[in-house]
Amino acid sequence: MKITQVMVEFEKRVNDGDYGSEKATAQYVALIDDGEDPDDVVRQLVNRGRDRVIGELRSSETLAVRRRLNPPKRICGECGEELGDEDSYEHDACREKRRAERALVDGQHRIDDDGHGEDSPF
Ligand SMILES: [Zn+2]
Repeated sequence: MKITQVMVEFEKRVNDGDYGSEKATAQYVALIDDGEDPDDVVRQLVNRGRDRVIGELRSSETLAVRRRLNPPKRICGECGEELGDEDSYEHDACREKRRAERALVDGQHRIDDDGHGEDSPF
């Protein structure tokens, strides 16, 4: 089978927070040249459509629409770096590190309680 043409449509609709929405759509039809990978062409067009559509909505006159397209970055409560999509409030690694440090501090307190901690100079 020889694919000679691809069609791509990218559409995004954003709630405007006022009982309505704004929508932007990009449609492309491309002819495939000999030796060109149709899947590559589709990927390129989807990326192009996404950039186009999101760029369009980002310059909306409605603040709610602009805000939805520029959500605040989710930041790790521990290290302050940006979180990945899988993380909730902190990186797994940061949580493990904090637990390990807490366990260490608990251990030191226990030694102090036993009277084997810092000695008073008096
Ligand atoms: Zn972190």
